[in-house]
Amino acid sequence: MRKKFVAGNWKMFTHAAAARQLASAVAHGLGNDKRVSVAVCPPFPYLSAVAEALKGGSVALGAQNCYHEKEGAFTGEVSPAMLVDVGCRYVILGHSERRQKLGESDAFINRKVHAALAAGLEVILCLGETLEERQSHRTETVLETQLNGSLAGIEANSLRRVVLAYEPVWAIGTGQNATPQQAQDAHAFLRGKIRARFGEETASALPIQYGGSVKPDNAAILFAQPDVDGGLIGGASLNADSFLAIVRAALGEPAA
Ligand code: PEP
Repeated sequence: MRKKFVAGNWKMFTHAAAARQLASAVAHGLGNDKRVSVAVCPPFPYLSAVAEALKGGSVALGAQNCYHEKEGAFTGEVSPAMLVDVGCRYVILGHSERRQKLGESDAFINRKVHAALAAGLEVILCLGETLEERQSHRTETVLETQLNGSLAGIEANSLRRVVLAYEPVWAIGTGQNATPQQAQDAHAFLRGKIRARFGEETASALPIQYGGSVKPDNAAILFAQPDVDGGLIGGASLNADSFLAIVRAALGEPAA
């Protein structure tokens, strides 16, 4: 059985003291519980401070992006090796905010996926359709294109270090989550595509998170779907109590 995985994407929020405090509260709340995997992904400037706050606990550290080159004259960019160096285990790639607001293509994301995996990171790869794409019945085509493009040239053994996050764009930060059935359908579709390309063993081991307005009151029903293996949490991860309630929901415990 796949272990549930709940990750907090703090986006461009917090400041140094708040980041440290939030990380400590999450680490303290989780204790040494290893039944669920938990990660927090703060902004770059606070990675080291958060790494320090998480030391010795069960909460892993993730970053929200990286560049695909190892080093060089790339002003403002951060390499996968630098993320490893400051204690990151995960990196989020392909988030819709980067696809949409910063124009990231599948080919560009694919270069980062290769580089991140080569550096030893685990990748949380985000995929998802816009409202217009869903309404024009193109959800599956979009997901398949993003999946194939982002994972081009990736071998089955590397896929053990990839987590997919299905994040319908229309559900991110809108308060309008996908229904459990919509999430399950998209996850089952993605798992089916992974199965067809990489085989049953890889597909059944692959965690697929749902992301998009997950809150303490809707997490349990979403996570109860057979192909939903936890969540990538934006807004609700900025408050330790609500994030921990979502973690409890992943354990099948009462959220509140
Ligand atoms: C996200 O940014 O990945 C996300 C899912 O945000 P929210 O939970 O706020 O919708």
